[in-house]
Amino acid sequence: MIIRKAEFKCSSSKMSQCPEEEMREFAFIGRSNVGKSSLINMLTGRNSLAKVSGTPGKTKLINHFIINDEWALVDLPGYGYARTSKAAREEFSSLIRFYVTKRENLHCLFVLIDSRLEPQKIDLSFLDFLGENGIPFAIAFTKADKLSQAQINRNIKAFKTKLLEKWEELPACFVTSSETAKGKEELLDFISEMLIT
Ligand code: GDP
Repeated sequence: MIIRKAEFKCSSSKMSQCPEEEMREFAFIGRSNVGKSSLINMLTGRNSLAKVSGTPGKTKLINHFIINDEWALVDLPGYGYARTSKAAREEFSSLIRFYVTKRENLHCLFVLIDSRLEPQKIDLSFLDFLGENGIPFAIAFTKADKLSQAQINRNIKAFKTKLLEKWEELPACFVTSSETAKGKEELLDFISEMLIT
């Protein structure tokens, strides 16, 4: 997919402010600082569509962008730094939980996972929540330029192994870097495919 047009539509602090559920939506979420804004900018080829911030956890709003007048890219608020899975549950704000479970035109939620880290409880806990609620999602491992290929592969394998302890199948997974644009084509092609079906 070539992104010809990317327009900011609105920021919403509650579901009732979100646009009508007309266009197909593809949303992005992850722990604060996972590289979500950078990935959105890399995918859309716009330097500052989403704000890249040095301050984790700043964005508490849902941001809608309209792509090619055809689909909506949704930038969801980051989730936090909880240390235990019990606390992790509480880290997913009611806004996030509400959006991902109730938004009828949400076609796929891309969950961003930092490929530099070993599996984090809060990410696994969020994916369990998605699986338990039947929400369609895919995984994008971020910052793949930061470590050696071998280290990245080790972390990704460990993450998948954790998922397979609980789930029979793995979701679609993408390995990305906003620095090198790795994964861009694959991820946009995946969205294209979903738009035709
Ligand atoms: P967000 O809080 O999830 O939106 O994360 P940001 O996109 O603001 O990125 C957080 C930090 O990680 C920033 O300093 C980015 O420059 C850096 N970063 C994000 N993606 C990448 C990447 O793919 N490679 C590298 N090397 N750094 C990245």
